[in-house]
Amino acid sequence: MTQVLVTGGAGFLGSHLCDRLIARGDEVLCVDNFYTGGKANVRHLMGNKNFELMRHDVTFPLYVEVDRIFNLACPASPVHYQHDPVQTTKTSVHGAINMLGLAKRTKARILQASTSEVYGDPEVHPQTEDYWGRVNPVGLRSCYDEGKRCAETLFFDYHRQHGLRVKVARIFNTYGPRMHPNDGRVVSNFIVQALQNLPLTVYGEGTQTRSFCYVDDLVDGLVRLMASGDDVTGPLNLGNPEEHTMLELATTVIDLTGSRSSIEHKPLPSDDPLQRRPDITRAVAALGWQPRVGLRDGLARTIAYFEGLLAAHGRHAVARASPAASATAT
Ligand code: NAD
Ligand code: UDP
Ligand code: UDP
Repeated sequence: MTQVLVTGGAGFLGSHLCDRLIARGDEVLCVDNFYTGGKANVRHLMGNKNFELMRHDVTFPLYVEVDRIFNLACPASPVHYQHDPVQTTKTSVHGAINMLGLAKRTKARILQASTSEVYGDPEVHPQTEDYWGRVNPVGLRSCYDEGKRCAETLFFDYHRQHGLRVKVARIFNTYGPRMHPNDGRVVSNFIVQALQNLPLTVYGEGTQTRSFCYVDDLVDGLVRLMASGDDVTGPLNLGNPEEHTMLELATTVIDLTGSRSSIEHKPLPSDDPLQRRPDITRAVAALGWQPRVGLRDGLARTIAYFEGLLAAHGRHAVARASPAASATAT
C-alpha cells in the first residue's frame, strides 16, 4: 500500500486531495498546523483506517516513513499570506527544505504546490513555463511569490544534486467547496457577498483577468503529475485556460445566485497582476490532462457549498476562527 504524506492536507486543496487518495486506497498522513485549514475539512475522513491527521508545522523537521509527498502547506490567499509574511516565507523555504530532506532520506517522490504567482505581473500572455516572470522582490506579495520561487529552486537543486524524484506544479487560481469563507479570495468573497445581498467588492476597474480552475480538475492534475514518469519534473502549469475579467465574474455570480447585490468598486491592492492565463500545452502533452468543469458549473457547485455553510452558521460562518480573520485585503 502506498504511504502518502499530504502537507497542508486540512486546507482547501489538500482536503480534496486527501479525499481522492483515500478513495483509491492509499494510506494518507495529513500534516497541518491549522493556520488557515481546519479539522472540519477532513472530519469525514477521521474514522477511516487509512487516514491519519497530525498537527505539525513544516518549518520544523518531520521524521516519518512515506513513499510520496505532496507539499501543499502554505497559506494561499493574499489576506492570509500577508497576515504574517515572515512565517509565509519560512513555511515555503524551511518547509521545502524539511520535506526535501524527508524525501531524500525515505527516497520518496515529492511534489511541490507552486503557483502562477512565480510569474508575478507578467509581460508574457498566456504564461508558459519557460517565462521567468516579473516579480517585485520587496512588495507585499513578495513573501509568497519569492518564497515559492525559492522553493522551486530548492526542488530542482535537490533533483540535480541528490537525484531526488521531484514534481513541480504551478497552480493557477483554483476554487470550489471548502474555500475559506473569509480568506479574501475573489470567488469566495463574491459568492458570500451575493448570498447575503451585499455589494460585490470589485477591486479597481475590474478589468484585470484571472482563469479559474475547479478544484476536482486541479486535484486530478496533481494526482496525474505525481503518477507520471521520473522524467516529468515540471514545472508544469495546472489551471483552466478560460480567462475572465473580475467584472464578468461578478455578474456571473449575481446571475447564478439570483442576488439583489450591486457592484461596489474598491481600491486595487498593490502589485495585483493585470492578467493571468495558463498555457497548459505541456500538461496536456505530459499528463493527458485538461480541465473539464466549466466556470458556471463549478460556480454553481461552490455556491451550493456556501449556501449550506451560511444556513448552518449564519454570518458567523464568515467570521469563523482564523488567525487572519481580522486582516484586510489592501
Ligand atoms: P489553504 O490555505 O486552504 O491551505 C493551506 C494549508 O496549509 C492550510 O490547511 C494551512 O493550515 C496549512 N499550513 C500553512 N502553513 C503551514 C505550516 N507552516 N505547516 C503546516 N501546515 C501549514 O490554501 P489552498 O488553496 O488549499 O492552497 C494549497 C497549496 O496550493 C498552497 O501551497 C498554495 O500556495 C497552492 N496554490 C493554491 C492556489 C489556489 O488557487 N487555491 C493557487 C496556487 C497555488
Ligand atoms: N529532515 C526532516 N526529515 C527527515 C530528514 C531530514 O525533516 O526525515 C530535515 C532536517 O531538518 C534537515 C533538512 O530536512 O535539516 C534537510 O535535510 P538534508 O538531508 O538535505 O540536509 P542536512 O541538513 O541533514 O544535511
Ligand atoms: N478581487 C476583487 N474583489 C475581491 C477580491 C479580489 O476584485 O473581493 C480581485 C483581486 O484584486 C485580483 C483578483 O480578484 O485581481 C483575484 O484575487 P484573489 O485574491 O482571488 O487571487 P490572486 O490575486 O492571488 O490571483
